[in-house]
Amino acid sequence: MNFDFAIIGGGSAGYAAARTAVALGLKTCVVDGAEVLGGLCILRGCMPSKTLLESSSRFSTLRRAQKFGLRASGLEVIGPEILARKKRLIGEFAAYRQGQLGAGKFALVRGNARFTDAHTVEVDLRHCGTQRITAKTFLLATGSVVSDAPLAALNAIGCWTTDDVLESPDVPASIIILGGGATAVEFATYYAGLGRDVTLIQRGAQLLRGTDADLAAALAHGLRERGVKVFVNTRLVGAEKAGGRKRIIFEHDGKQITVEAEQVLQALGRSPNTGGLGLAAAGIEMLHGRTAMQPTQQTSQPHIFAAGDVSGPYEVVHIAIQQGEVAARNAARVIAPGEALEETDLRLKLFAVFSDPELAVVGQTEGELRASGTAFRVATYPFNDHGKALCMGETDGFVKLFAAHGGEILGGACVGPHAAELIHEVVVAMRFRATAAQLAAIPHYHPTLSEIWTYPAEELAG
Ligand SMILES: Cc1cc2nc3c(=O)[nH]c(=O)nc-3n(C[C@H](O)[C@H](O)[C@H](O)COP(=O)(O)OP(=O)(O)OC[C@H]3O[C@@H](n4cnc5c(N)ncnc54)[C@H](O)[C@@H]3O)c2cc1C
Repeated sequence: MNFDFAIIGGGSAGYAAARTAVALGLKTCVVDGAEVLGGLCILRGCMPSKTLLESSSRFSTLRRAQKFGLRASGLEVIGPEILARKKRLIGEFAAYRQGQLGAGKFALVRGNARFTDAHTVEVDLRHCGTQRITAKTFLLATGSVVSDAPLAALNAIGCWTTDDVLESPDVPASIIILGGGATAVEFATYYAGLGRDVTLIQRGAQLLRGTDADLAAALAHGLRERGVKVFVNTRLVGAEKAGGRKRIIFEHDGKQITVEAEQVLQALGRSPNTGGLGLAAAGIEMLHGRTAMQPTQQTSQPHIFAAGDVSGPYEVVHIAIQQGEVAARNAARVIAPGEALEETDLRLKLFAVFSDPELAVVGQTEGELRASGTAFRVATYPFNDHGKALCMGETDGFVKLFAAHGGEILGGACVGPHAAELIHEVVVAMRFRATAAQLAAIPHYHPTLSEIWTYPAEELAG
């Protein structure tokens, strides 16, 4: 049990790091204490939430059948069947990942690890006993946990977390969602699509903190069009039970408002999972609740790396994977010094929300470009003036592109139909440092949603 590289956590970041380290010839182990292996994305995050959203999206389309000259009757939401489909798919995804983890390319130790010193962890094995593991380098990839509720009363009334939504065969007739981040917005979309009564209460001035205000406003408008009661700029005041229902009291626009529903979903965010890891014993310093981080993925201990949700700053899967890979390559460089350490490149950072309408952003936001004093130009184009979007009856939202004065595309954003797919055209363009003129010159089939990018690109090229 002496390794070159010991990874704590076998989720997206940990598995990506293990695969990379093995390819580099490092003697590697992954320690994971979960009862079921697979990580958040597969078991309780991206994949289960998207299977539920797919059911909701299809139901929502059927409910709007008349708009397209069709009549659909006898529509029904069958919660246990939505859940059964999710369970079947997630079972398959998890089995595949469990196969990869257990394939013998690296050691897999089932148990919870904690540092006893900077080169040793002790693992409380799941089957019984403890195991001491020493390594030259380590990776913390322990993910995140649901943040504590900001009011004790929320615990007292028994709110759902996203885990409960993903495991419940019940689809409540009404739900209050606390939070305005990606998860809150996606679950608001889920319930609204199923025809449920949804109230979304966000503390900040807009949905999706850090996203450009025009995108967040278009998203809020789209959600309201679909019946979601969206409140921003609020302050939670209280929570109470009301018979079999739950009540949330909050301040908004100088008034106290009380809303009531069958269920309350606490989607106020997640925090790095560092509890019980013995970080102090390893000499790891924390900064604002996070393992103090370098772009090399090193913590304050140069041989101990961190990747994924536990490190941040962006809690999404493709960045967790990228950080895990960088950490593994840098671990090899720490073990055999010579080559300079690599830094995680966030130039193409992507963010997508599978709401209705969808929202996706790549590269720098308009706010970031302005804050950094970068000289840039911006062009936008609305879906309500785009042929394919009109044919589809999906006219909410717009796209926008930013380009440097030399023409290179610096970022792009989209709120509207299939935004999370459409954004990849800009990702590819940016990957090859294309200019707006080059993007505009690429042939686009007509009529497609994708050709919408050519309009802002042409404007910027002009
Ligand atoms: C509802 C929801 C929807 C989401 N949707 C998306 C999406 O659409 N797209 C997207 O990009 N991201 C999405 N995310 C975020 C995404 O799931 C996470 O960013 C990603 O899964 C984090 O991966 P990770 O490897 O950092 O952590 P995890 O996958 O959580 O892995 C951590 C692992 O560490 C193990 N562990 C923890 N502590 C210890 C210990 N002491 N010893 C041993 N093992 C330990 C755990 O058992 C776990 O297996 C979503 C999240 C949620 C909650």
